[in-house]
Amino acid sequence: MPDISCNAIIVSCIDFRIQEHINAWADTYLGEYNFDRMLYAGGAKDFYHVMEQIELSHDLHHIKKVVLVNHEDCGAYGDEGTEEKIKADLIKAEEKIEALEQGVDVETYYLKLDGTFEEVSRTSPRFVKKD
Ligand SMILES: [Zn+2]
Repeated sequence: MPDISCNAIIVSCIDFRIQEHINAWADTYLGEYNFDRMLYAGGAKDFYHVMEQIELSHDLHHIKKVVLVNHEDCGAYGDEGTEEKIKADLIKAEEKIEALEQGVDVETYYLKLDGTFEEVSRTSPRFVKKD
């Protein structure tokens, strides 16, 4: 089998309002035609549903990076879809992927409907663990 590889997989919501923003961002930061894409309502909200696809992407295309994009006003969250909750789910998913030790980098973003990508980091003060 030929060695087919790409840089990354992007996991994001199916919402039509964000696709153009993600396409433009990904072409710029990941390289055109250099990433797998998975669309799932809520993005990283239901981590276990997306993990299987991430593992396939890793096994088939030897990705180096997982990019998780959750977005503002996500209908899949319903009433619980606060910015804080949506970001917390990104952090949880990042921790779970890193725990698998597959050697992939994980980047997480909160995408606003105006196209602004806000990087969500576990090391932001709100999430620093207290000793
Ligand atoms: Zn959504």
